Amino acid sequence: MDDIICHYCHKQIRDQDELITASNKFQIRPFHYVCYEEMEEETNSQWKLWKPVNGVPGNITSVLMGILALWMFLTDTLDGIGDLIGFIALYPVYQRIISYFTIEKKLPKFIEEKDDIKKD
Ligand SMILES: [Zn+2]
Repeated sequence: MDDIICHYCHKQIRDQDELITASNKFQIRPFHYVCYEEMEEETNSQWKLWKPVNGVPGNITSVLMGILALWMFLTDTLDGIGDLIGFIALYPVYQRIISYFTIEKKLPKFIEEKDDIKKD
């Protein structure tokens, strides 16, 4: 199994419980949730560009966008522009799927009695 390495601290991520996946333009990278919280407080703006993909907000966004995309493709709402909106709306859905298959699926759901992340 490939190790999933945090893009921020470069240490291994051990289970889905401590994982957060985030996207920045066309990349998706894994992070520890503690590292993600640290990133949000970073003054360096390059870290602020990362938006969470997994978890509840990411799931809600991808479901809503999926519905919007289907609606735009299956109806004549807004014609050609509607199809374009549909393609754009599919983007978070696509990211959510990539995140699941390339990162989340490789990690166990939850490992009990892990050492503290910051200990070593
Ligand atoms: Zn980390």
